[in-house]
Amino acid sequence: MLNVRTSVFLPRCIILIVFCSLVKFSVGQQPAASQPNSAKYIYFTFDDGPLYGSDGVNRVIKEEQIKTNVFIVGQHAFNSKAMMDFYKGYLANPLIEVGNHSFTHANDHYTAFYSNPDSVLRDFLKCQHSLNIPYKFARQPGRNQWRLPTVRKDDLASGAESADLLYKNGYKVYGWDLEWQHNGRTGSPLQSVDGMLAGVEKLFSANKTVKPGHLIILAHDEMFRKPGDEAKLKTLIQKLKAKGYRFEHLSNYPG
Ligand SMILES: [Zn+2]
Repeated sequence: MLNVRTSVFLPRCIILIVFCSLVKFSVGQQPAASQPNSAKYIYFTFDDGPLYGSDGVNRVIKEEQIKTNVFIVGQHAFNSKAMMDFYKGYLANPLIEVGNHSFTHANDHYTAFYSNPDSVLRDFLKCQHSLNIPYKFARQPGRNQWRLPTVRKDDLASGAESADLLYKNGYKVYGWDLEWQHNGRTGSPLQSVDGMLAGVEKLFSANKTVKPGHLIILAHDEMFRKPGDEAKLKTLIQKLKAKGYRFEHLSNYPG
């Protein structure tokens, strides 16, 4: 037999348990994007432009309204009026920060190029001045090397000295956390959109990015010269947005 006190206490207890489990459930359902401390940032970077494909990159950035960085190869801009127009299109897009990827791209002979750090610096300065590149952001051709106030990182010894010299001359040097690789002949992306998405999630969850919570993606302009490949870029951005990731400029990278 329940006395009066117990019969009142039990329903209150049940209400409390139900209330607590509802609170727990709703906290567990919070999307990552609504929690400022757990926000995750993507820095999309595009190298080697202007090239055929740059117009596609610029179009997708405008359509998706994401902050983006590009690293320009000087001699590509001077190859034709079409390429100079692509370059000017980047400069005119307020969502894009334009940085420097050297004038010659090492003529694709990287070891010889990096054996002379002074001429590497001259090559970057030539690119900077001939195109009036607005940011002193550098990415060394063929090298994943970083020189930031709190990051010094090299994939290879070759290029380390010129990276130091660029930094000494006022450049921030950026590498990347994840590359969207491509076929060198056709330009087409190698990883699928979902493969890239999985790569992003894996790096964040394993805390394998250079700065926790911040991930720099490397892609190349030439990957998006075909409409089908441009569509893949758009889809990847939309899927990253849907997961709650935020897009930022390298000027806001916590380096
Ligand atoms: Zn490059």
